[in-house]
Amino acid sequence: MSAVAFLNIGMHGHINPTLPVVAELVRRGHAVTYHTTPAFAEEVAAAGARVFLYSGDEVPMSGPPSPVTLMEQLARTAVQVLPGVLTDLRAMPPDLIVHDSACLWGPVAARELGVPAVSSFTTFAFGRQVPSPTRASWGLLAAAGAMPSSARGYLRARRELRRRYDTSDVPLIDLADIRQPLNLVYTSPVFHPGANGFDKSYRFVGPSIGARPADPMFPIDSLRDPVLYVSMGTVFDAGPQVLRTVAEALAPLGGTVVVATGHTDPAALGPLPPTVLARGSVPQLEVLSRAALFVTHGGVNSVNESLHAGVPMLAVPQGADQLLVADRIAELGAGLVIRTEDVTVDAVRALARRLLGEPRFRDAVHGLRDAQQHASGAPRAVDELERYLRQTGAARPGPAELPTQG
Ligand code: UDP
Repeated sequence: MSAVAFLNIGMHGHINPTLPVVAELVRRGHAVTYHTTPAFAEEVAAAGARVFLYSGDEVPMSGPPSPVTLMEQLARTAVQVLPGVLTDLRAMPPDLIVHDSACLWGPVAARELGVPAVSSFTTFAFGRQVPSPTRASWGLLAAAGAMPSSARGYLRARRELRRRYDTSDVPLIDLADIRQPLNLVYTSPVFHPGANGFDKSYRFVGPSIGARPADPMFPIDSLRDPVLYVSMGTVFDAGPQVLRTVAEALAPLGGTVVVATGHTDPAALGPLPPTVLARGSVPQLEVLSRAALFVTHGGVNSVNESLHAGVPMLAVPQGADQLLVADRIAELGAGLVIRTEDVTVDAVRALARRLLGEPRFRDAVHGLRDAQQHASGAPRAVDELERYLRQTGAARPGPAELPTQG
């Protein structure tokens, strides 16, 4: 058995796919630690990891980021959490570190401890077809010029990091795209744009979707078919007006319309038709298992989960890589796309009618679900981690190191 340490930022979409990987590692006899924030401690512990909480008040990545504020938050958080992280890890030295592709303190910790590291991409992987939001570009330079205090904060934190640690493994600018010799990408190569163009360090292991703690407060058994589900994710917020318009558009077409409002207070949507159930957060996997249609912002995890459940999508991209993900949904026939500024009751209702009525959308979704199943998900991710542990000589001998099929 080997000891694997996960370092992550505090966002649902970046944590959820790692949880089945943790559970599979533990099932195979490995010891797993996971640094996270209090909000995620319970579900990380439920996956079987020993939880360590980040020190300090800086919550790594809680708000909707722009590239420049993302970079500033990541660098400042790294300065703040690294002393505690390094103390924790030195007390229980890992054989391998798995860090999120935007977790700046992951490669620094790996270098300080002298252990190999793996990067975990819960977004699309970045390259020519999918440009990283933090790549060096004129756009980023202009954004930095418009937010001088964030840009200065970033530079200050980077200088401090370089003063204290060896940061040679960290990109100077492109913090959303921190690569390692092994990069796990949680999408199928069929869904990911240009998957064949990536080098062998990228492994498209497929969606990593696993059981999550049940929500006994959610009335899943009282939903009426067809269930129509709306969520704009946990980071970006389409706001009450858009959520309300979509709910009104769907109400006459469905049994129950479930709306996950995210940061928006459900009460801000105002009075809704009686068949609409609006909650801040819902058990998405359970709701999707009942749904006939998903109106989504196009976050990679939500889209993976929708395909996994066999549900066609209407994408309303809000930011980050969601425009590209939405384009991919449309290109592969798994759904349709509407821009936020075009959202009206009539437009959404017309598109929803097509998605519910035309079998070609469901057929395409089923084809993509087969590709996901072929990619395998968490078991394949753990096969890759075990192979990498053996290749780097970091694996500890033990029952979990028996060769696995690759
Ligand atoms: N999610 C959930 N309940 C909600 C809203 C979201 O469980 O009410 C989960 C969803 O299943 C997914 C993650 O939060 O795993 C959101 O990740 P995604 O990449 O789709 O979007 P993000 O929130 O990062 O924009």
